[in-house]
Amino acid sequence: MSSASEFIRVDVNMTTCVGIARCGGCVRVCPVSIFQKNGDAPAVVEKNLDECILCELCIQTCKPEAITIRKLYEA
Ligand code: SF4
Ligand code: SF4
Repeated sequence: MSSASEFIRVDVNMTTCVGIARCGGCVRVCPVSIFQKNGDAPAVVEKNLDECILCELCIQTCKPEAITIRKLYEA
């Protein structure tokens, strides 16, 4: 069984993300731990993706707009 969600996909654009040391907002605000620290980069925790409640706190906190959330069931 794949650990990725069939319903939600969360991506971080590592080119525009400014890193954990300068920001780390996504790791801080997500209520269900979709993001974790991986060195200075945020990593998406695939096994938690089905817990995403689409609150968009991560998107709101991410000033460089590096986070995208796709609802795969609407694709
Ligand atoms: S909120 Fe955006 S810029 Fe900040 S660490 Fe997360 S992805 Fe990077
Ligand atoms: S939308 Fe909310 S629950 Fe989903 S990854 Fe972003 S902060 Fe976490």
